[in-house]
Amino acid sequence: MAKKQFKAESKRLLEMMINSIYTQREIFLRELISNASDAIDKIYYKALSDDQLVFDKDNYYIKVKPDKANRTLTISDTGIGMTKEELENNLGVIAKSGSLAFKKENELKDGHNIIGQFGVGFYSAFMVAEVVTVISKALGSDEAYKWESRGADGYTIEPCEKATAGTDIILKIKENTEEDQYDEYLEEYRLRSIIKKYSDFIRYPIKMDVKGQ
Ligand code: ADP
Ligand code: MG
Repeated sequence: MAKKQFKAESKRLLEMMINSIYTQREIFLRELISNASDAIDKIYYKALSDDQLVFDKDNYYIKVKPDKANRTLTISDTGIGMTKEELENNLGVIAKSGSLAFKKENELKDGHNIIGQFGVGFYSAFMVAEVVTVISKALGSDEAYKWESRGADGYTIEPCEKATAGTDIILKIKENTEEDQYDEYLEEYRLRSIIKKYSDFIRYPIKMDVKGQ
């Protein structure tokens, strides 16, 4: 399968993410949970104007699932999901948010502290993951797709199976090195404390499903 290239700006941001300092890495979870929450919001707002769609609060949640044995951390949501085109357009490009221009301007003034302070989005996953896999099924579609990337060298998209609408973001957590520790992102207590710190205000339940501990 041909590998597609990220847009130039996305590449620059990816480099910045990957090289970010230790204390900022934990915010990847805030970003992925906030995206999951946005995806559920989209169903919530759609239901307000769509008689066919009932928003039953019990069906909408975010799940954080560390799996030590496989070294994966999965963030799942029962939100609106993405079509193939949306995976392509939303995860392959970063310029639309305008946050990159802002960061470039401020990087000079405030060194690397910028990453921790602002919404840096989906790409922050690459701070802790060597591979990011996104499995998504859009609401109302019967097709699911898998988007996968190891970072700056591009991404692939292919059809896959997924039973229900929503998105699973699977992070293959990096191996520890002498300078850098990543094991903590597979530890339940550590994940709970990051969630408490940054995602306390999220209005959908954040469930934890612990495997291989
Ligand atoms: P932002 O959230 O500021 O738009 P992100 O980089 O965090 O930027 O995400 C880019 C886009 O990818 C989102 O706007 C959304 O369209 C899509 N996206 C990311 N995660 C999800 C998800 N879990 N479910 C549905 N769409 C998502
Ligand atoms: Mg976001």
